[in-house]
Amino acid sequence: MKLKSCLGIIVASMAANISVVWSAYAQHHAHIHSEGQLLIAQDDNAWRFEFVLPAADMLGFEHAPQTQAEVDTVKRLIKDAERVTPFLVLPKQCKITQVMHQLRDKLTHLSDEPYEHDHTKHHQDEHEHSDKVSHTDVAIAYEMECRSPIKSADIQLFSLASSLTKLQVQWITDASQGALILTPNATEVRL
Ligand SMILES: [Zn+2]
Repeated sequence: MKLKSCLGIIVASMAANISVVWSAYAQHHAHIHSEGQLLIAQDDNAWRFEFVLPAADMLGFEHAPQTQAEVDTVKRLIKDAERVTPFLVLPKQCKITQVMHQLRDKLTHLSDEPYEHDHTKHHQDEHEHSDKVSHTDVAIAYEMECRSPIKSADIQLFSLASSLTKLQVQWITDASQGALILTPNATEVRL
């Protein structure tokens, strides 16, 4: 009983460490269409793969979905994210413990917003000037438990997001730290 609760605390603090590393990193990344980021972090047998990708490449748009087709696109990406394989080939020794993303929030937002803002109709001439372009990333994180360290990972994302040309990978593992750029022709990370 006592041992169990100790373990709980260790696991919780480990997860906090990983996310501290990540948020420090995420704050410095630039939003560039066709380029994404992947951070790989390890703490013992717990691993985290976190993708930050321009919504433009993952969905084809960066605003809250406004049509049924756009809603369906978000739903399809949620399914793809939860199937794992379209993003990465899960190493054999690993088991997914959690898939995290904020894509459902995008759908919830939708129900609060009217389909179309009236004023855009009346000011079509000014549309270009008044339309503030806001960029959005899609973040998807996989947490897994692995019986042995991951030595290499195959990132399948490029076949899912055809406009993506570059994935900047950074990793912090017990064995090493490093960075690498993946492309549709080079999809393997060796850690
Ligand atoms: Zn953008």
